[in-house]
Amino acid sequence: MNIYVLLKRTFDTEEKITISGGKINEDGAEFIINPYDEYAVEEAIQVRDAQGGEVTVVSVGDEETEKQLRTALAMGADKAVLINTEDDVENGDQFTTAKILAEYLKDKDADLIIGGNVAIDGGSGQVAPRVAEMLGISYVTTITNLEINGTTATVTRDVEGDSEVIETTLPLLVTAQQGLNEPRYPSLPGIMKAKKKPLDELELDDLDLEEEDVEAKTKTIEIYLPPKKEAGKVLHGELTDQVKELVNLLHTEAKVI
Ligand SMILES: Cc1cc2nc3c(=O)[nH]c(=O)nc-3n(C[C@H](O)[C@H](O)[C@H](O)COP(=O)(O)OP(=O)(O)OC[C@H]3O[C@@H](n4cnc5c(N)ncnc54)[C@H](O)[C@@H]3O)c2cc1C
Repeated sequence: MNIYVLLKRTFDTEEKITISGGKINEDGAEFIINPYDEYAVEEAIQVRDAQGGEVTVVSVGDEETEKQLRTALAMGADKAVLINTEDDVENGDQFTTAKILAEYLKDKDADLIIGGNVAIDGGSGQVAPRVAEMLGISYVTTITNLEINGTTATVTRDVEGDSEVIETTLPLLVTAQQGLNEPRYPSLPGIMKAKKKPLDELELDDLDLEEEDVEAKTKTIEIYLPPKKEAGKVLHGELTDQVKELVNLLHTEAKVI
């Protein structure tokens, strides 16, 4: 089984986000594997161990992304590919990322591609389904269980707390939802082995892509943090006065009635 994982490097959600010059300030922030992509790596390893084959982890990023790819290798993936767009693409969006990934994957004869359900930073949940569309293969999102029997895949997906079971055929792209599995921590021998596993680095040129081919379809106009929460107001006095005051505030300040 030829299995690919789409992995995104994201900043740790524990980080305090600041904005400078209209961009999210990444200086000094801790970076991690997008948590949903950890489920994807784990599932890929489990499918490979059950069915045989190889797991390749692919990321569109910069040279810093090597660290997260090495972690995936330490978990047990066989190979990693970094598509480094640092020098070629200044403004990218979901189309950019999906187009690059699809160009890379188009001649790889992947049986199974696993992505995360959503990235915890960008949060659009678009990249993986777009990749499947571009490759012309089936996809099922937010999955919580995957069983493969020959070329048939039985997939359980999370539908806002309920479950839906879908049967489809390979090649298939799925996106991982929390609950799919319990991602393993890289073991010490795993970390040692990962240093020697292949990690290829490609650029747009290697995929026969020009900058124009991956030009963003959208433009970010503004990024801003939510307004600071103001201290709550405590009303005092007679209950009837408090009710009057509350109605007045809801009308004049909160403007909700
Ligand atoms: C070269 C480049 C330049 C960019 N420039 C800007 C910019 O100027 N401004 C800006 O706001 N954003 C920029 N981005 C970020 C980009 O808009 C989105 O973060 C990215 O397309 C993913 O969208 P998302 O975070 O909503 O992911 P989602 O669609 O929510 O991610 C879902 C899943 O898709 C897969 N996936 C997502 N991203 C990647 C990836 N990079 N590699 C492999 N798999 C992935 C993972 O499996 C992930 O779990 C840039 C991205 C690139 C590659």
